[in-house]
Amino acid sequence: MAVFCPECENPLDVDDELEEGETMQCDECGVELEVVSSDPMELAVIDEPRYEDEDPSPISADEEE
Ligand SMILES: [Zn+2]
Repeated sequence: MAVFCPECENPLDVDDELEEGETMQCDECGVELEVVSSDPMELAVIDEPRYEDEDPSPISADEEE
């Protein structure tokens, strides 16, 4: 079945056997997607910052908002 990438709207050929919580990658824009719903199939962009193992910069208490 075809699902559209929420990021670039590229039609993705999704495996019907994908279940909620599984992840895949968009071939077009390379974004990582998580299956948030399997019926109907729905994908969400995984937007989490990745820290390098060697330097996990801790979040400072800088509250300027
Ligand atoms: Zn995409």
